[in-house]
Amino acid sequence: GDAGVPGRVRVAVRLRPRNGEEMIADADFADCVELQPELKRLKLRKNNWDTDTFEFDEVLTEYSSQKRVYEVVAKPVVEGVLDGYNGTIMAYGQTGTGKTYTLGQLGEEDVADRGIMVRAMEDILAEVSLEMDSISVSYLQLYMETVQDLLDPANDNIAIVEDPKSGDVSLPGATLVDIRDQQSFLELLQLGEAHRFAANTKLNTESSRSHAILMVNVRRSLKTRDGLPSESSGNSHMTKTLKPPVVRKGKLVVVDLAGSERINKSGSEGHTLEEAKSINLSLSALGKCINALAENSSHVPFRDSKLTRLLRDSFGGTARTSLVITIGPSPRHRGETTSTIMFGQRAM
Ligand code: ADP
Ligand code: MG
Repeated sequence: GDAGVPGRVRVAVRLRPRNGEEMIADADFADCVELQPELKRLKLRKNNWDTDTFEFDEVLTEYSSQKRVYEVVAKPVVEGVLDGYNGTIMAYGQTGTGKTYTLGQLGEEDVADRGIMVRAMEDILAEVSLEMDSISVSYLQLYMETVQDLLDPANDNIAIVEDPKSGDVSLPGATLVDIRDQQSFLELLQLGEAHRFAANTKLNTESSRSHAILMVNVRRSLKTRDGLPSESSGNSHMTKTLKPPVVRKGKLVVVDLAGSERINKSGSEGHTLEEAKSINLSLSALGKCINALAENSSHVPFRDSKLTRLLRDSFGGTARTSLVITIGPSPRHRGETTSTIMFGQRAM
């Protein structure tokens, strides 16, 4: 997909640096991928001699800063939202490859670490005027085809409502918090994380098995030149008309997807079969919708899962969509890395 062009999915790949364990245990082995960021290419090692080459809209290396990742992956989408268009930013990849680091990092110790959610809010706050405009946020978890409110744990089965006329998707049951400054947003994210941890402990599951979804609604009232006749008007009488302000509404959806690791039929360690089926259902439904958009198909199968129903109005059409696929360098995870790369390739 092309940069910031509505209706297409822009796909970036991001490689996580080796962690301490990988530096020691895999010291004798080369990374399973080799990146050529200037050429926007990734080479996947098949064996000692052969590589497969893939192209992406952006290739982000283990040295790419969070700031750079924000600019490449998120900024065009956030600018669209400020102009009144909806947009989606998603991270897809195996657990442990950096989805949450990319999207949700708060950067409490070092602001340079701040991820996409925090940087997006910073840009939105800088652009809007809070006398005229409003920013409101919901934070949700989607687990086993159930939408839970991360801002109110008692609210654990939220309905997705779609306006049949406008196609707008809303969650009337979800907590909606007005945001006026960065501090209150950081506190909201922290509260959401704490509730997510508690809910998952109670359900005896892990956060990697659910999707975390942040929704940011930006409503702007743009001043019109009230009372002034338009320049093209041939009317010599200065009739004062009171024009209503132009309202622009944009919605940004940020999705930290469940881990994409293949789950074998018996249910891999700790996974229940039902969890596994549910993750497969939503990720494959998402894949099908992305592929349909990439192929310009007239039918996008949004109805197939809660995840895609939620994204219906912020995906395709006039919306801007950005997908970052996250991969690890370890040769041991080449199988998972390969399937993540293929997911990203099919989206383009
Ligand atoms: P995921 O959400 O995909 O399971 P995480 O975002 O939790 O993965 O990342 C796993 C670990 O790797 C975390 O400790 C995280 O801080 C670290 N990490 C991920 N990506 C990077 C990166 N680009 N630079 C430095 N550390 C990273
Ligand atoms: Mg995570």
